[in-house]
Amino acid sequence: MWREKVSAYEDAILEDLKGLLSIESVREDDKATKEYPVGPGPRKALDYMYEIAERDGFGTHDVDHIAGRIEAGDGKDIFGILCHVDVVPAGDGWDSDPFTPVVTEDKVIARGTLDDKGPTIAAYYAVKILNDMNVDWKKRIHIIIGTDEESDWKCTDRYFETEEMPQLGFAPDAEFPAIHGEKGISTFDVIQDVKAEDQDEPEYELRAFTSGQRYNMVPDEAVAKLAVKENMTDVIQNFEQYLTEHEVEGESVVDSGILVLTVYGKAVHGMDPSIGVNAGLYLLNFLSQLDLDKTAANFVAFSEQYLFNSDFGEKMGMKFHTEVMGDLTTNIGVIQYEYEKGGTFGINLRYPEGFEFDDALIRFKDEIQPLGFSIQLGKNQTPHYVAKDDPFVQTLVQAYRNQTGDDTEPYTIGGGTYARNLDKGVAFGAMFSDSEDLMHQKNEYITKKQLFNATSIYLEALYKLCVEE
Ligand SMILES: [Zn+2]
Repeated sequence: MWREKVSAYEDAILEDLKGLLSIESVREDDKATKEYPVGPGPRKALDYMYEIAERDGFGTHDVDHIAGRIEAGDGKDIFGILCHVDVVPAGDGWDSDPFTPVVTEDKVIARGTLDDKGPTIAAYYAVKILNDMNVDWKKRIHIIIGTDEESDWKCTDRYFETEEMPQLGFAPDAEFPAIHGEKGISTFDVIQDVKAEDQDEPEYELRAFTSGQRYNMVPDEAVAKLAVKENMTDVIQNFEQYLTEHEVEGESVVDSGILVLTVYGKAVHGMDPSIGVNAGLYLLNFLSQLDLDKTAANFVAFSEQYLFNSDFGEKMGMKFHTEVMGDLTTNIGVIQYEYEKGGTFGINLRYPEGFEFDDALIRFKDEIQPLGFSIQLGKNQTPHYVAKDDPFVQTLVQAYRNQTGDDTEPYTIGGGTYARNLDKGVAFGAMFSDSEDLMHQKNEYITKKQLFNATSIYLEALYKLCVEE
């Protein structure tokens, strides 16, 4: 029945989606002004959503041109639908212009079709169709639209500074059936505090060490520069042997008397470091065999004692696991070291609901302080969780099942979705199990079937949650 309702709107959905996709809503910091907080493109896309909403008779409310909402419904409680209209840059290699949507027999191709303009229009039409049916709303609906999801979430930060938090909501910015839990995500630096020390004639001085640029990626390359007094060939031989034994790639070159060692690893997302190969930690592991200068020896020893071969926080004394959300994970994404100045480990730690992060960090801080290390906390986003058997989640998932017949259970992830901006909210679509995931890639597309089925699922879910209840 719901899918039939959507049928009458298919052409309109495609037209409005094409208009939105034609706007190159990529963040441009060099063009940012008060009028265009993250550049003109994202603002234009936001205004476009206001225009179609006003055309259809809805109220709108703008928040400093960086976010805003479309208002529908009636009642005391607010149901939030959290979308975003900014997109990542197109990148190279497209078969068509990424901002000139191509509509074929069965799909729409353009940047943003999946992430998140297609789902945004689908959710919008779910509200519009119900409104056209003149339903008796029991809740107010806020379709909240952000313009900075792909970068810093300045949009939602600003929005919720002044605007009401919905009691309930979903973000159509991930996958069906629903993502009902997301780990806590924290980043912190472990910093070596170097005191001037007398060196006792080390054989090797670590002049520099670099690995990784991003906290949320496993680094796939590490470079160490060593000043070697004698027996250069021995070190090179040992290094070759180390690479073979540990089945990692690498190379050594001598450059102006300095031995440069490189290890290549395998880059994966920092949410699951155990499936990657951390080039930095391997190279430090090799260096731990050498008679290094004191500062370097201390730095390398720290990696051995707390980080190497410890993807689940076990060496830091933070191993933690729950049935629902799995393991705590630790990714050492950035490693930097300078001769006699010491170094830093940049860590991305993700933890399930129930882990006492603050306590654990204080305990760890106290433990490593006597070793000459301190901690600087970056960001800590607490876990986001709604119980799977919460009636709200069950209603969403039932709408998905009614449409698809698929009884996959909702699940939790180590990453973060836009839904975590909501006090009580989950990520709900619009990717299906058989959708090709081309988010952030070239030739991004959404199938018409996916677009219309998602609209139908949102329609049923909203009817159950905001009209029947
Ligand atoms: Zn998105």
